[in-house]
Amino acid sequence: MIPIAKPYLTKKEAKAAYDTILSGWITQGPRVAEFEEKFAAYTGAKYAVAVSNCTTALHLSMIVAGVGPGDEVICPSMSYIATANSIKYVGAKPVFAEINPANYNLDLKDVAQKITGKTKAILLVHQIGMPADIDAFKELAAKHHLKLIEDAACAAGSSYKGAKIGSHSELVCFSFHPRKVISTGDGGMITTNNEAYYKRMKLLRQHGMSVNDRVRHESSKIIFEDHLELGYNYRLTDIQAAVGIKQLEKLDWIIAKRRKIALRYHKAFKGIGCIQLPVEKKGYSSNYQSYSIYLKDDCSKSRNDIMQAMLDAGISTRRGIMTTHRETAYKEEYAGLRLPVSEKACDRSIILPLYIPMQDEDIEKVIHTFTSLLQ
Ligand SMILES: *Cc1c(COP(=O)(O)O)cnc(C)c1O
Repeated sequence: MIPIAKPYLTKKEAKAAYDTILSGWITQGPRVAEFEEKFAAYTGAKYAVAVSNCTTALHLSMIVAGVGPGDEVICPSMSYIATANSIKYVGAKPVFAEINPANYNLDLKDVAQKITGKTKAILLVHQIGMPADIDAFKELAAKHHLKLIEDAACAAGSSYKGAKIGSHSELVCFSFHPRKVISTGDGGMITTNNEAYYKRMKLLRQHGMSVNDRVRHESSKIIFEDHLELGYNYRLTDIQAAVGIKQLEKLDWIIAKRRKIALRYHKAFKGIGCIQLPVEKKGYSSNYQSYSIYLKDDCSKSRNDIMQAMLDAGISTRRGIMTTHRETAYKEEYAGLRLPVSEKACDRSIILPLYIPMQDEDIEKVIHTFTSLLQ
């Protein structure tokens, strides 16, 4: 069976976790600090804050951006549900805008049309690793005095106009879930160039504690901590961070390999008229966290029939990215909302297997099976 995805973890990560466990310091401590420093340096951001996952990264970003009850935040419905949930956590309302089916990223015009007096922020997603047009959204946000937050859960190592995602704006959130390109089991990171945000997020992730465990541990004088505001336990552990440091060392290598596979798919499928392939414009570089194709209207086979035939041949595929407004948790509140482009993109997309290391014969099998189904 060819799986849809697989984390690339080796003895190096296992050894790093092993060493950390035996070091006696297993929750947030020196390895977390090292992972943050290295991640900031990798992305080119000034600061990085490690947290328990990308959902908590987004939650803290909403808080420091000042989003609260009564505010609206514009985001795509076609995204993993955590995107919209993070807006709800602070009592604000997700306002769903359309996407462009060529790259599954937010449609600038539709976002502009949805700005109201209540809009506080735009939550821009780099869907399945393909960078969105950050500069265009930055400009739109500045014009209307809105905050821009990037959901880069899938986009570690992707780049936009020559710089890594994470360096372009004030709040960029990453995920290290096993379905992403590098993993720490679960884990997240926020990069920022804003010192005030950085300091506050470090407090918020640890119950608002004025002194962290490590500082207290290393101090030669007794220190008593105070809790400065309502905080959370969103810590990453040192065991996870040790794994993350090893993963980060491989990130560019992993992406180069993923891009090679994506290119092979691209070359093999470009002659099939009834599908839309991912579009990577000049200046944009995807890490290909997923490879998703879109079935155009003239496709003779249904999405489900293709997925079933692939499964029968021993190849897992997944439906395209979900639409949040049609999920049970959101359905009632958004009952009147129609997003024809997003709904169609969700219903007519298929994600194909892509992971490292993927054997040559498995790549060929995916290509051969998929191509013969559509010819
Ligand atoms: C995976 C994902 C998340 C959530 O990440 P976790 O680390 O699992 O919390 C958020 N947004 C998008 C777009 C994602 O793909």
